[in-house]
Amino acid sequence: MADGGALTGKVAVVTGSNSGIGLGVARELAKRGASVALNSFTDNAEDHDLAKEIADETGAKVVYIQADMSKPDECRALVTKAVEQLGSCDILVNNAGIQFVAGIDEFPTEKWDAIIAINLSSAFHTTAAALPVMREKGWGRVVNIASAHGLTASPFKSAYVAAKHGVVGLSKVTALETAQEPITCNAICPGYVLTPLVEAQIPDTMAKYDMDRETVIKEVMLERQPSKEFATVEQLGGTVAFLCSDDAAQITGTTISVDGGWTAL
Ligand code: NAD
Repeated sequence: MADGGALTGKVAVVTGSNSGIGLGVARELAKRGASVALNSFTDNAEDHDLAKEIADETGAKVVYIQADMSKPDECRALVTKAVEQLGSCDILVNNAGIQFVAGIDEFPTEKWDAIIAINLSSAFHTTAAALPVMREKGWGRVVNIASAHGLTASPFKSAYVAAKHGVVGLSKVTALETAQEPITCNAICPGYVLTPLVEAQIPDTMAKYDMDRETVIKEVMLERQPSKEFATVEQLGGTVAFLCSDDAAQITGTTISVDGGWTAL
């Protein structure tokens, strides 16, 4: 399936891609022919099995590279290792992210530092390492997975909202610094996406509010998402693939919301 796909010959690095959105994006890019480097901070047999599974499914070359996105050197090393193992880094998807919820006056400093490091600073370090590679190849796409919280705020999510607003800002600066080159950088701002992590919260929330599954999804989880439907990881993968296409060559320095209308409210 990889031969003849729109992204055949391209190499994609997707941070935080052993689950959820990153995994969905990696799978979609591999389906369209790209060689893909999966990443997380773990180094388990399952991580490497996942790479093999996607390679078998798609016919694309897929490797797993362990690197902790909270550590600047490891962020940069991820790009270097992808170039060593796959020959390039044409598409960089900065997706790794964590969350913690607490009021500002009670927010643990180490949680603030970890969220800023993983959700924001990692994108700076990987982009810094990837741009020279893209410049040498004369083509590049940086896609940063921000959030509806890169454009709006919610209480108790100070670090997450600050980091995601930062990702949107970093995307604009990257776009301006590459504006006259065949490189683009944009941020995707998802609303609520149905990932295994979100799916796992449904039974507890049903019990907490004594509601059925559908009511929990529509009235509690998707309270701010006017479509009352989750976005899917496949839709996120398709949006990344679009930003990697020639049709998107003049789309740079902007945000694309995949949020069922959240930010229109
Ligand atoms: P997830 O927990 O399934 O995925 C997060 C990924 O990041 C995992 O692969 C995890 O291993 C990886 N990761 C965490 N810490 C890391 C570290 N130190 N080094 C390397 N990798 C690390 O969550 P998800 O929902 O798929 O989230 C992916 C991205 O999408 C995040 O940036 C998140 O903020 C964003 N997002 C998610 C939603 C949603 O509703 N799920 C909505 C908007 C934005």
